[in-house]
Amino acid sequence: MEKVIKPEKEWRNQLTSEEFYVCRQKGTERAFTGTYNQYKKPGTYVCTCCGQSLFDATDKFDSGTGWPSFSKPIHPDAVATEVDRSHFMVRTEVLCARCDAHLGHVFEDGPAPTGLRFCMNSISLKHQPPQSYEKE
Ligand code: FE
Repeated sequence: MEKVIKPEKEWRNQLTSEEFYVCRQKGTERAFTGTYNQYKKPGTYVCTCCGQSLFDATDKFDSGTGWPSFSKPIHPDAVATEVDRSHFMVRTEVLCARCDAHLGHVFEDGPAPTGLRFCMNSISLKHQPPQSYEKE
């Protein structure tokens, strides 16, 4: 995977101010306000910043937290994690492995079999409907 590295100014130009705040400045959208909290359409969720596939709709579940939640990434290498000690808590931050966009946090209270809850910001993700296959 080739990393996407851009200066802050380019991200500012490319993204909306809300996207920039969450994805590049590690902000958090308010609970129950994001587009994908209750979203149930099939398909793939890609990174708002670089377009990399991050999560599959089949791994999405309703956590009741107000943020879109997934039991696992679409591929183990799609996301990276970092220890986040901000706000007087120790959490595990989840980032896009390709462009280092802040996506949210992962917690160990998710459903079986992974037991993980990837608690994401809607604004860090873009839903894409399932690929239509070309006729042979
Ligand atoms: Fe990305």
